[in-house]
Amino acid sequence: MVIVMKPHATKEEIAGVEELLRSLNLGVHISEGSERTIIGVIGDKRQLAETPLELMAGVDRMVHIVEPYKLAGRAFHPRSTTIQVGSQEIGGSQVVIMAGPCAVENESQLLSTARFLKEQGVTFLRGGAYKPRSSPYSFQGLEEDGLKILAQAREETGLLIITEAVSTRSLEQIAKYADVVQIGARNMQNFSLLQEAGRSKMPVILKRGLSATIEEWLNAAEYIMNEGNYNIILCERGIRTFETYTRNTMDLSSIPAVKELSHLPVIADPSHGTGQWKLVAPMSRAAIAAGADGIMVEVHPNPREALSDGPQSLNFDSFRQLMEEVSKIAGILGREI
Ligand code: PEP
Ligand code: MN
Repeated sequence: MVIVMKPHATKEEIAGVEELLRSLNLGVHISEGSERTIIGVIGDKRQLAETPLELMAGVDRMVHIVEPYKLAGRAFHPRSTTIQVGSQEIGGSQVVIMAGPCAVENESQLLSTARFLKEQGVTFLRGGAYKPRSSPYSFQGLEEDGLKILAQAREETGLLIITEAVSTRSLEQIAKYADVVQIGARNMQNFSLLQEAGRSKMPVILKRGLSATIEEWLNAAEYIMNEGNYNIILCERGIRTFETYTRNTMDLSSIPAVKELSHLPVIADPSHGTGQWKLVAPMSRAAIAAGADGIMVEVHPNPREALSDGPQSLNFDSFRQLMEEVSKIAGILGREI
């Protein structure tokens, strides 16, 4: 439920409502707008049935929220959230470009990619050290050694590091080396991992699950937020459909839909979204045109030799081309790269 305060409710009136809610052991989330304050209420609200909140000073009305997610929803927090990572802001006027190999394979592969991306004006370097592979016989990642290589790339280039956690143990390691933790599609409903990411307070990229509805995806964000971490970036990465030509079906419509339902920034991953490098640039352009706050793209110095996701990885030349194209689209929308 949301309590909408009157346009010029005083600080004391707002504090009075907050105090009453807290005395009933309810969670309170205050969002100050330019016109009025709204107070989100979380918890078992049955006791409120007996409490005439509408009659309290400064209260305008109560609005029942039908969505199961509250903290992630716009009703609780009408203004769009921006997330600060180092000197970078995600969800603001800039379209953020995140790029790098699917997996960290060795020092020269990662460092050469990092140096190239830095030259291209990229600010976030992605690379998996723990890889959630579909087959147990596929390359599983360098684990902590991979994290150390990522940290070395950050040291040398200043790029901010994004890497995936596949378990609570890997999350602890990642917190020592990276700037943003990614929760992958396969773990979108690993609720203990989500809660741990919530307690870690690191910015989180939360990918949409392979077969997750938008509501399930926002509920996954709610798990993280419910532990006190509001630094979440949602990432559309394609969903399973009957189509097999592409690896996944990139659900472009989820981008404007989620931006309407939630205040959290939304980015798109056209590499996993399509599985084919030739489709990455057109879908990057489309995602930005649809309102994405950024894109995450797989790049490899030699995709043919990549240990994972080579067919969907761009080489340096095609990435350079993509940067030119997406800068134009962002410009049309009045956003910068
Ligand atoms: C990845 O980013 O390399 C990855 C495994 O992504 P997803 O979880 O979307 O499959
Ligand atoms: Mn990958």
